[in-house]
Formats: sequence, C-alpha cells, structure tokens
Amino acid sequence: MESYAYFEGHFVPHAQAKVGIMTHALNYGTACFEGIRAYWSQDHFSIFRIKDHYLRLSNSVRILKMSLPHDVDELCRLTVELLAMNPYREDVYIRPMAYKCSEVLGVRLHNVNDGFFIFITPFGAYLDTEKGIACCTSSWKRIDDDMIPARAKITGAYINSALAKTEAVDNGFDEAILLTRDGHVSEGSGENFFLVIDGHLVTPPVYDNILVGITRQSIIEIASRELGIETEERTIDRTELYIADECFLTGTAGEVAPVLSIDHRPVGSGAIGPVSAKLQKLYMQIARGERDAYNHWCTFLKPSLVEIARK
Ligand code: PMP
Repeated sequence: MESYAYFEGHFVPHAQAKVGIMTHALNYGTACFEGIRAYWSQDHFSIFRIKDHYLRLSNSVRILKMSLPHDVDELCRLTVELLAMNPYREDVYIRPMAYKCSEVLGVRLHNVNDGFFIFITPFGAYLDTEKGIACCTSSWKRIDDDMIPARAKITGAYINSALAKTEAVDNGFDEAILLTRDGHVSEGSGENFFLVIDGHLVTPPVYDNILVGITRQSIIEIASRELGIETEERTIDRTELYIADECFLTGTAGEVAPVLSIDHRPVGSGAIGPVSAKLQKLYMQIARGERDAYNHWCTFLKPSLVEIARK
C-alpha cells in the first residue's frame, strides 16, 4: 500500500514529495524540525505529546524568523489525518519540517520563502534501552546559544550531533555525551541527560545548551508524581559522571536509555539501576497510552474508525 506525506499544503504520495537541489535548506541547513513518536498497540496509535512538539516547533521557527503555515491545533489535526491515511500499523516516527524552500543562493534568513512538510516512517528502538548503553564524553563541544541556538531544533545544528555520534560509534561506544565549551555536561547527541545521585535526579539546566526535551520534561514530572523523586536542574561537572549512582538518557527516539558505562568506567554497579528501570517502565506505559492519569499526553487514533468515517 502506498505511503503519503503532507507536502506544501497537500497530501501526496511519499515518493512525489521532492525538493530541488538548489533548495535553501539543503544548501545552508536552514530548517526546523520535530520528531514525534506514535506507538501502535492492537488497533490504535498513541501519539505522544504531539501538541508540545508543535509548540516547540513554533518556538524554533521564531528563532529562524520563519512562520508555520497553520496554527498548532491545525498542524496536530493534519498530522493525525496523515497518520490515518498511511498504511503503517506499527510504531512510527513522525517528522514535521519547516524549511527555507526558495531555490536561491545566499546565506541569510530574510527574503527566502518558507515551506513545510510532514512525513511518517516505521521506527523501532533507536538505542538499546533493554540492555543499556555505553557512552563516552565527546571531543566535540556542544554548540553555544550565541553560535547556533541548541534550544531551537535546527537541521544545520545536527552536524554537531552527527560529529559526536559517529566519533563515539567509531570508538566502540553507543552514544556521545557532549560537554559545553566550559566543560560542563550538556546532553547526548540526540537525548537529554540525567544522573541519579543519592536518590534524586540531576539534569543540566536549559542554559547549558540543551534542546529542552519533551521526554526530559515528562520524566521530571513522572519521577515526582509516581516515585516522589525530585529533579535538580543544575550545572554538572564531568567528574560527577564517574561517581553517580545511575545515569540515563531521554528522548523521543532514545526513550529512556540506561547508561551502564561512561568513558569505560561503570556507572554505579554497571547494571541498570532501580530508578532508571522504574522510570523506563513508567515512561513506556505512559507513552503507549496505558496509564489513564496521563492520557492527556496521548492522542489516540483508531485508523479503522477513520476509514469507516470516510466511506
Ligand atoms: N537533545 C537533542 C539534541 C535532540 O535531538 C533530542 C531529540 N529531539 C533531545 C535532546 C530530546 O528531545 P525530546 O525528548 O523532545 O525528543
């Protein structure tokens, strides 16, 4: 069955959604995007925090002096419609992108038109969340807010992540932890960072050049509400990584990924810790729409009902 994308105002077959080689965003990295997961169970999808993703996209485009073609509610509606018309009945990743679409030369943000698309693709685990992962501190430093703002999810900024990720994998690790220019912990190449120290959570503050993650915010709330564990948002020294009790990464793609070693040193006992395990289980249940108290975070879609409604 054919898959569809939303491209420049229309639902089109995925294969027809193409841009030209002079597209500004392709040449200069001038685009903002999101990554949203929709989890499939039996007969329905649970799309996790779709509205929060579009709210973050709204902030990203403001930083790049761009505008979105619709308001957040309409973007959510279009995304749900696109998911329903696609043939997938498995976990998927949804990728909206606002991009500088003019085919013109010249590095700038002004006098270039804005385009928008959404595509959907099947997507399983991104990191080995069951076994846990091995991390290194990267030799690449995290981009600063006054260079390329990490707060905005900008395609061009992902060169920073790609350099760090590939260096880590080339050196036998699963993921990189990037430090700020002044040597403090920022985040993973595509995930936020948490330590468990003396029974509470510690995570870098927004001003340490992180992308303000939706999973991060969810974990802070879930830990407090379900486990009575509070999170301290503060600057973290590199050597705290070596003495923490537990460590995990959070992200839409990475979900809750326990970190078992950093720079070849075991984190805590070197096995998945109890707090990480509990949070991982809770997060997956919540994101899949299995916990009523958090259903306001999930948009449920039963494709069979949509098809019936269309007939
Ligand atoms: N940091 C970076 C650099 C990322 O790319 C992501 C993934 N979007 C995250 C953190 C986690 O953000 P979220 O939980 O919203 O997916």
